[in-house]
Amino acid sequence: MSDTQALVLLLALVYLSDCVAWVRRGAVAFRALGASDFRAALPSAFTGNARAGLVWANPLPPLGTLFVAESWPLAFSPDGLASVPGLELDRRAPRVAQWYAKRWSDVGDVRAIEKEIWIDGRVFARADTLHAARELARLADTLRKATAARREALIDAALAPGFDVEAVSARAASFASATRALRIATNALFGFLAVLVPSVLWRFGILMTWPWLLAGLVVGLATVAVLFWRAHRALRPEAKAARRRALALIALSPPEAVRALDSLARPWLAGFDPLAVAALLREDARRELVRSILLDTRHPLPPPVSAEPLAIDCERWFRARLLGERERAANRLGLDPSRLLAPPPTDDPTARGFCLRCELDHAQPSGACSDCGAELAPRA
Ligand SMILES: [Zn+2]
Repeated sequence: MSDTQALVLLLALVYLSDCVAWVRRGAVAFRALGASDFRAALPSAFTGNARAGLVWANPLPPLGTLFVAESWPLAFSPDGLASVPGLELDRRAPRVAQWYAKRWSDVGDVRAIEKEIWIDGRVFARADTLHAARELARLADTLRKATAARREALIDAALAPGFDVEAVSARAASFASATRALRIATNALFGFLAVLVPSVLWRFGILMTWPWLLAGLVVGLATVAVLFWRAHRALRPEAKAARRRALALIALSPPEAVRALDSLARPWLAGFDPLAVAALLREDARRELVRSILLDTRHPLPPPVSAEPLAIDCERWFRARLLGERERAANRLGLDPSRLLAPPPTDDPTARGFCLRCELDHAQPSGACSDCGAELAPRA
């Protein structure tokens, strides 16, 4: 292998690694080829661990958009807080073995370090984005200082904005318009690097052509950098440090420049619950995602056997608040939760019960599902 071939291979590998997003379980990715017509994608059950899995961003033009929305990795209650999965939509995915919990009276220092939420010098939970980690740490600190009587109202007030389904559509539209020019420039840069440069090198060799190719690369990178800076400033005017960091990477690395949209898209809908972001899906996909989120919220998998009682109590209390918000958001999306969750009919005459979560038929009308462990209900 020549030095040039080795360099091309290296750049291709760097590029492919830039196309992979590491997404927390409990989050849902929303992927589109352009900036509309989104589809939902769950973190891969097989490439990942109990905490997160891989999601592919579209590697070829039109490069596309990848938003991620997560269910909070923390459950809050008036008594304390617990680290929990949030959502468990993929039954093949590995599960975390432990939920941690603390009473508010035992919480001292709460802070976000990168995407992690630290309590008293230890990692307590991991969020999907820096923004979410910061917001959750701030909320935990507010709740810690509040009186027990105030906490319920504070938790409800913090949850509500994440279910504003109208705001989701408006933000997705403003993202599409703020990134239109950048989208064209990154696709052009991909064409230059993946098609034009190899064909010129193959036809004319490097000796005569390198000054022109280098000049083309500099112009391409500079264009992407300027358009990225403009889009970033329009979308996230306050995030100056993040803008400088991303810009440095783009200026130095052609693969990063081609993927410039990703760092803007990833946190853009991070403040919303996945059920609210289902507003971006087509009708049938939206119904399917909303149904599976409501089923998971109403009838979750049993907690890990080693979970502390406080963690189980916090999770249960918080899930009831989430369920209320999620059902109201489903209604605003035009989906009636009770009609949506009606169990499918059965053709098994021996079925006397079914699992409320996975909807498998069972011969007995009550007890726990042999498949997922959730509660059974009698067949009418
Ligand atoms: Zn089941």
